[in-house]
Amino acid sequence: MIQRVMERIVDQTIPQVVINNPRVDWSPAGNEVKPSPVNDLNTPAQAGADITTAREPDTRYARLLAIFHAERLADPYSPAASTFITRRFELDRQMSEARVQAMLEQGLSSPQFTAVARLIEKRLGRPLEPFDIWYNGFRSRGAYSEAQLDEIVRKRYPTAAAYHTGLPEILAKLGFSPERAAYLQAHIEVEPSRGPGHAMPPGMSGQPARLRTRVGPEGMDYKSFNIAVHEMGHNIEQTFSMNLVDHHLLAGVPNNAFTEALAMMTQGHDLEVLGLAKPDAASAALATLDTFWATAEISGVALVDMGVWHWMYDHPEATPAELKVATLGIAREVWNRHYAPVIHQRDATLLAIYSHMISDMLYLPDYPIGHLISFQIEEQIRKTDDFGGEYERMTKFGNVAPDLWMKNATGKPVGAEALLAATQRALSAVAK
Ligand SMILES: [Zn+2]
Repeated sequence: MIQRVMERIVDQTIPQVVINNPRVDWSPAGNEVKPSPVNDLNTPAQAGADITTAREPDTRYARLLAIFHAERLADPYSPAASTFITRRFELDRQMSEARVQAMLEQGLSSPQFTAVARLIEKRLGRPLEPFDIWYNGFRSRGAYSEAQLDEIVRKRYPTAAAYHTGLPEILAKLGFSPERAAYLQAHIEVEPSRGPGHAMPPGMSGQPARLRTRVGPEGMDYKSFNIAVHEMGHNIEQTFSMNLVDHHLLAGVPNNAFTEALAMMTQGHDLEVLGLAKPDAASAALATLDTFWATAEISGVALVDMGVWHWMYDHPEATPAELKVATLGIAREVWNRHYAPVIHQRDATLLAIYSHMISDMLYLPDYPIGHLISFQIEEQIRKTDDFGGEYERMTKFGNVAPDLWMKNATGKPVGAEALLAATQRALSAVAK
């Protein structure tokens, strides 16, 4: 049913009258609308005549077109990168679009994609459906329930200040030396946030990075802690890449995907930080398969995003309705080429559901690139067994070209091979 709702968001066939309206009931399958029998709002029920199934207008696509027209205004002022697409890839990411596309397609056309799909099918005991691109059955919390983890974290970190006081211990558990842990503690401020949390980089060398984290009246819960460890990963990168680079103009990392990769990798060690044992080999293998599957899903989403931007540049006078038809076509085409051979159903439009595609202008490719980079970094750290030393060595290299950064970090350029190789090992481990 949720899949049907998503399809109707993408093709904009949800009846206008059902949106934010508790007085009517809607059947997503048949798209029928009727007055709700549950109506205790003390307002007159709408007369049957008022209930039409007239669909919502093509607002989703009108918004995207408006953003496209705004971005296009910058084109004449950027002769070296004369479209938003080239600016996003070649200036922001320092990676060509062709290169990124090839990396994403490498994962989607790999034998590992088929093998993991068959494994999921076996675990579910039924043929795969399109919505199984969001299968989450590989994830585990180890031996602890979420409630138990909440309890442990609340006791340890009743306030944001307690997390700051705990930083040396947290960093030591990750593998930083006492001296480096103290250095990082002095450079990271921990503050309460209203939202789930975020990391604010220092604006100049010597200034602190800020870790904002949500702490409820009863203390920090596990969800907040998990996010705080992610944000702390950003803060460590921000501190080293601001203060330890050879030259101030090199401060930072090559692009967004790199800092996200470092943060995601750190976040993955959150249970070790709590001292709740290293994940065993079996759950580590499942975690690899989870990352692979998530990467395969978001790779297709990124390819649709890229296809839609090309279509807009090829059809700058398009109407929202025309953009909608084109987006549906591109989503089906990417699905039929990469997913239908593995999931055995054609013409799904789910890959076009992400709101990032409407509001964040070609941001989506950073997610699969981030997963790939994260895997390369994790492999290197696993090989050397020196989390603290390697984190520092990698991040103080600074904002150089992505492949240069990755060759310094791991000896290889940015690519999908590390994740594919780890997935292959995980598949054999799970089969045993
Ligand atoms: Zn992040």
